[in-house]
Amino acid sequence: MNDKDRMYCVTLKRPMVLEEGYKGIPSPGKDEVLIKVRRIGLCGSDAIIYYGKHPYVSYPLVMGHEFSGEITGLGEGVKSLAIGQRVAVIPHLVCGKCSQCKTETFNFCEQLRCTGAEADGAHCEFIVMPAVMAIPIPDNLSFDDAAMIEPACVAYHAAKRGEIKNGDTVLIVGAGPIGIFAMQSVKVLGASRVYIADIDEKRLKLALSLGADGVINVAQEKITEGLVRLIGGTREVDVFFDCVGQNGEILEEIILMAKRGSRVVMVGVLQMDYNIPHLPDFVQHELRLSGTTMYVPLDYRDMIKYLSEGRISTKGMITHHFPITDIIKVFREFIEEKKEYFFKIMFTLD
Ligand SMILES: [Zn+2]
Ligand SMILES: [Zn+2]
Repeated sequence: MNDKDRMYCVTLKRPMVLEEGYKGIPSPGKDEVLIKVRRIGLCGSDAIIYYGKHPYVSYPLVMGHEFSGEITGLGEGVKSLAIGQRVAVIPHLVCGKCSQCKTETFNFCEQLRCTGAEADGAHCEFIVMPAVMAIPIPDNLSFDDAAMIEPACVAYHAAKRGEIKNGDTVLIVGAGPIGIFAMQSVKVLGASRVYIADIDEKRLKLALSLGADGVINVAQEKITEGLVRLIGGTREVDVFFDCVGQNGEILEEIILMAKRGSRVVMVGVLQMDYNIPHLPDFVQHELRLSGTTMYVPLDYRDMIKYLSEGRISTKGMITHHFPITDIIKVFREFIEEKKEYFFKIMFTLD
């Protein structure tokens, strides 16, 4: 193999064993494009995969699902994209034939595989993707912002599941990247007041800087106490977002405080051994409990518009940049050893 035909890649050989090396640069097939990767975000789910705790992953695997880049090769039949075009990428591989695929509801395709989890992802210099998954971005959008579109759309899709009405008051529990993008998304969708709860003061500061109307530090006060302080009581809230999931502790709290007729969106992943003793109350209290899964291309197009217009911002969210060659070190120091605070880590290829 010639040097110009090979690309740098980092592969997760098995849980907690990352290996750097070189592979042949793939060539795009029919209706596919070759993308030179420019930015890859590090996600909480990457840590789950790294530790071998993700249910659908088999090893070896190249991780990386939050990425942006530029088109460097066009497969047969690709007319909608051009060489050199800058793109955000939907990390989905789908059948392309089912009724869900025909309407671009790719998150419902039963053959869906996510690149970076069920198929090889973007911890590489290049990746081949279906052309339909490469969404062009405007000149005023950075590669950093374009790599943030994936988590932003997880949040935006969830926000849409909350069926936000003009004037709604919203509480979001969990101020990680998804919670903070959900907070901004519900505002874009018409919510008038958005409050956010977390145990981490740094995250809450970031939430305030990006438009939260008030924050609740649950290390210092209960959510119900915080709502009394901020808006006079829990009954003011119309829509709740649980961005924590886990064993259902937050959902239980929400069910106990929600007024009748409220909407609740589960964004965080619930574990199978959940414990939600008051779940049955959602029937008599006529709560609407919504699930949400990933996003659709329309969400990407909307988010690109909001980011380029500055209506949704990533300001202050990316705390670290590292070259792709530091991936192994970053997983050791930030994921395993938790050596310092981070919000979003971005790997770069320049
Ligand atoms: Zn992610
Ligand atoms: Zn399909």
